[in-house]
Amino acid sequence: MPFIFPKILKFERGPQGGVFAPLGEGVRGASSPPPSPVTLIDGGMGQELLRRSGEDPHPLWATRVMIDHPGLVQSIHADYFAAGASVATTNTYALFHDRLVKFALAHRLDALQTAALAEAHAARGAHGRGIIAGSIGPLVASYRPDLFPPRKQAVADYSAIVARLAPHVDVLIGETVASLAHARALIDAARGAAPDTPFWLSVTLEDRDGTQLRSGEPLADLALLAGRVDAVLANCSAPEAMDRAMPILARFGKPFGASANGFQQITSDFLKDNPTVDALNARPEMTPDRYADLVMGWVAQGATIVGGCCETGPEHIAEIARRLRAAGHPIV
Ligand SMILES: [Zn+2]
Repeated sequence: MPFIFPKILKFERGPQGGVFAPLGEGVRGASSPPPSPVTLIDGGMGQELLRRSGEDPHPLWATRVMIDHPGLVQSIHADYFAAGASVATTNTYALFHDRLVKFALAHRLDALQTAALAEAHAARGAHGRGIIAGSIGPLVASYRPDLFPPRKQAVADYSAIVARLAPHVDVLIGETVASLAHARALIDAARGAAPDTPFWLSVTLEDRDGTQLRSGEPLADLALLAGRVDAVLANCSAPEAMDRAMPILARFGKPFGASANGFQQITSDFLKDNPTVDALNARPEMTPDRYADLVMGWVAQGATIVGGCCETGPEHIAEIARRLRAAGHPIV
């Protein structure tokens, strides 16, 4: 019998089916509304694992590390909770049969999923609270909408991972969603295989034009699908792209926000098959202070779910937490 991780957190459903955050002890002025509660997602996992494991990048580095260095993922979740994050995003982004089979790891899929869930649950257990978000990455490859499988296959593959993760997480998050077809397949799978589990859709944007998905399709066209999800987010794109995306996400009528990356840009080198992080360069100027400035700008535009993606670490999340508290936003 499969081991079932206990859920210790239940979301209240808001009037629109979204996550309904209770009001905290925010500062209330006589005329202005109280600062909104904000859900603080964690930062990047892959680069952080690489840094701590001291190993060379490998296309499946973030997966292999759970075999080679058990406990490392838990320690990163723990550091994010300690920094103020309210969410632990499970290390399941690349745990698909199609990705593992290329590296003769397909027989370990179930054990790796169990390890990723267990490490998140152990960190939350030690911390005493927090939201566990089950990460579902792109099929085949990141940032490659051209390689996305045909609809029927995509829905079947996603339904399997949704059914596997949903019983053990508080929310499912479809990350780095690069096209409308990708979004539609993921939403169909989430709503079909786990209709009672909240689902956050998180899209990746064209770095130089945050009004477009990475496929080139208009972000505004997501309006057709937004009614079926509990939050609409953007992740793994340049922070400047997020600035342009916020007013569009705000119009969907759902909780929204972003987790940007600290890459210079997704280079064409990275888009070759089986890439490693070597092909991506960090932006040295994306310090915790600078990044927190940008995040607080999104919060000022109404974002209530924010965090970091690749090349952001616990120090970035700690600075965002400090700024949110200073501005009176309860972190929920
Ligand atoms: Zn990322």
